Amino acid sequence: MRKVLVCPVCKSTDIALDAGGYTGKYICKDCGYVGIAIEMTEGEYEQIKESEEISKKVIKEKSHDIDEEEHKP
Ligand SMILES: [Zn+2]
Repeated sequence: MRKVLVCPVCKSTDIALDAGGYTGKYICKDCGYVGIAIEMTEGEYEQIKESEEISKKVIKEKSHDIDEEEHKP
């Protein structure tokens, strides 16, 4: 299975070698993170994306409840 590099901060796969590979670090083009990228198979990445989407939905629902309680003008 093909392997992909994933940003540990935003889970983007838009990763490139920083400074032309001289530092051995990677830069994330999405969030600007510089450091070690996570190498995983495409199957593992799909699983992470799915769990990320679930946690995003939970956060969205929670913040919606808070807005209801605060009764913003
Ligand atoms: Zn990132």
